[in-house]
Parts: sequence; structure tokens; C-alpha cells
Amino acid sequence: MSAAKLVIGNWKMNGSASQVRAFANLAACEWPGCEAALCVPYPLLPAAQMAFGATPLRWGAQDCSAEDDGAFTGEVSARMIREFGARYVIVGHSERRAGHAETDGQIVGKVQHALAAGLTPIVCVGEKAEERDGEQTAMVLRRQLLQLVRALGRDLGSIVIAYEPVWAIGSGDAAAPGMIDHTLGFIADMLTFHAGSSASAVRILYGGSVNPRNAEAILSRKPVAGVLVGSAALAPADFMDICKAAARCSTPATSDAT
Ligand code: PEP
Repeated sequence: MSAAKLVIGNWKMNGSASQVRAFANLAACEWPGCEAALCVPYPLLPAAQMAFGATPLRWGAQDCSAEDDGAFTGEVSARMIREFGARYVIVGHSERRAGHAETDGQIVGKVQHALAAGLTPIVCVGEKAEERDGEQTAMVLRRQLLQLVRALGRDLGSIVIAYEPVWAIGSGDAAAPGMIDHTLGFIADMLTFHAGSSASAVRILYGGSVNPRNAEAILSRKPVAGVLVGSAALAPADFMDICKAAARCSTPATSDAT
């Protein structure tokens, strides 16, 4: 089985069609052991489809609706995103939980629609600074994940989870590798406890101030299946350096032949 590390860029409300093309020019070569994707704003999906189609880079969006279609002004459905060849969609990012009051229940609906449309949802979870200081991290993560685990059943194995401590996002200070190990281990144990064997297929990423200087130290930790990258995903050279670090940290594919 392949143990490629996943590197997902979150462009947030940044970027342009010419920036998409600049990434495509640099991404011509493949790094075995790294699967990379950029989640761009909706209007850049056609440019991403055109530019990345001939490269190893995949693409995705940063949110989707919890509805299929209808009178939901301003919303974009998972099916619409998939029509542009997207593979991934970020769901439940802390900026959407905070700025758009997204609830855990709505996030479950978005994940289910993403899966039904053939997208891989990347579900973001993580505690705020005051919750970390109040030693509430485990409680927060359990609350953010429990409804999802119960609703998805066997489909759980098709999602990606990104642990993004809110205090680390955009701060320049990533969580310490030991703490990342500990928290990702907690998430994996919690999933196994509630979902049994479907939990073993879930890839768990770390996100929050990952950059080319700290990427290898983070990606080399065993529980880390990949990283979700914000600001460092806007510069092609930085993003590619993180992809190279991921390729160095991947474990070789094991043959199914006995
Ligand atoms: C993010 O917002 O998902 C993120 C990880 O941002 P940054 O890398 O800039 O901390």
C-alpha cells in the first residue's frame, strides 16, 4: 500500500489565474511519495483545471454547500465543484466556523454532499488558544468529530481530517512536533474507538504555520499523513519545497505481492 504524504494548499481569498499558471509551470515534475493539491477560490477552478490537468498537482475548493441545489443564494454545491475536475474540498475551516458560524451539524451535511459528489472532504478541526490553555483540547476535538463519525459509518475511511490548532494558523509558530504526535494520536484513537476498522483508512494532517523550514520536522512524524498549508502555499517555490520534504518523508510503497 502507498504511504504518500498529502500536501494541501489553502489559498483562502487570494490568487489569480496567472498565479495558477505560475504554479503549473513549476509543478511539471512528479515527486513519488507526495500527493499535492491546491484548494483555490471558486472562480479559479476553471484555470486550475486547465493548468494543472497536465501536471501531478490536483486541485479543490475551500467549502461547499450542505445542499444539492435550490434557493441558496451565494452557495456552491459539491457537484458544481466536481464538474471542474476538483478532487478535494476543505470543510469546516476555523475561519468558516468563526466567521460564518458553521456548526458541527452543518459540517456533517457538507461532508456527506462532498462524498456523494465524488470529492474527498478535508475536515478541519482544532482548538482555540483559550481552549488549549483551559486543557479542553480533547473535549473540543471530540465534540467536533463525534457527530461526523456517527453519521458517516463506513464512509469515514474516505475523508481526510486536518488538525489545525486555531492559535497556530497564520501565527508563524507551528505546534511542536511532539504535541502534533500526541494530538493526532488522540484523534486516531478516538476514531478507532467509535468507528472500528473504518478509522484505519482516515488520513490525518497537521495544519498551522507549516513552511519550508519546519515541514520536514513535521512530516517526518509517523502519525502525520500530510500537511495543510496556508500562506506558504501562495509562493510556488515554498509550496514545492514542502512537497519535496513530503516526498523525502514518505514511507516506500509496499508491494501487495507476497
Ligand atoms: C490554514 O489557514 O489552513 C493554514 C494552515 O494557514 P497557515 O499555514 O498560514 O497558518
